[in-house]
Amino acid sequence: MHPLASRPIDDFAWPEGFKSAAWLCWHVDGDAGVHASGKPVDSNFASFSEARYGVTTALPRILELCAEYQTPASFAFPAFVVEQQPDIVIACVEAGHEIVHHGYLHEDVSKLTPDEEEDILGRSTEIIVKLTGQRPIGWTAPSWGLSLGTVDLLHRHGFLYDNSLMEHDVPTVFDFEDRPLFELSISTVLDDWQQFGVDLANASGGFAAVSAAFSLWRDELLGLGHYGGLFSPTFHPNLVGRPGSLRALAALLDETREGKGIWWTNGRAIAEHCLAIHSANEDVGDR
Ligand SMILES: [Zn+2]
Repeated sequence: MHPLASRPIDDFAWPEGFKSAAWLCWHVDGDAGVHASGKPVDSNFASFSEARYGVTTALPRILELCAEYQTPASFAFPAFVVEQQPDIVIACVEAGHEIVHHGYLHEDVSKLTPDEEEDILGRSTEIIVKLTGQRPIGWTAPSWGLSLGTVDLLHRHGFLYDNSLMEHDVPTVFDFEDRPLFELSISTVLDDWQQFGVDLANASGGFAAVSAAFSLWRDELLGLGHYGGLFSPTFHPNLVGRPGSLRALAALLDETREGKGIWWTNGRAIAEHCLAIHSANEDVGDR
């Protein structure tokens, strides 16, 4: 089997009462995303300010929305942003949300040597642990870059799930002898960069109408509900955190949080649910 291919979890089912699940993984790239793009730092303050909108202006409103809807979320931070803007990371943790590992400077790990990849993974984990007191259990790939060794590396470093691959739309598992690693798949259809991403330095990208973007995501959410799947969008606070999108997200939560059998939760809870099923299967197998 390919080292990045996962398989379905035996006897997988959502918790009692739920037919599908949904979670929001916010990629808080901040300055790290601009640094990773290789743009000249001194002459691109407009790009940094656009990225910082997500951290300083949008993220507090996102936390308010999560509180209003009592919905836990996952926030993926490059460790550089954790060092630079620790207060907002602490605010996420204190509100009960999950911090997900997202590299140090938003590196595409497919372009790194194995040693560089491991060094950045370990160093960034320590930065998160030092600030929050909590070890991240999830990793999501900056720029959707993985190396052939990434999944093995995540397992060796004690991660419980990856959130970067696209073969499946239900949680799946990578088999390791001692403990499993789960895949909570993404989709480019559910990545807001496709709708709202812009590159200021190269004057590229475009803007979709909020109503068009949310029409697409609502259809996907309800479609995944029909098939028992996992709605796993990748949202950036500087994009979907814009006021129009944030109110559209509130409307989507209003419509789907109750009565449709959708478990709105975060990555940690989904991965822990997968672990409980997987462990129960192992216990049966051992008898
Ligand atoms: Zn990112």
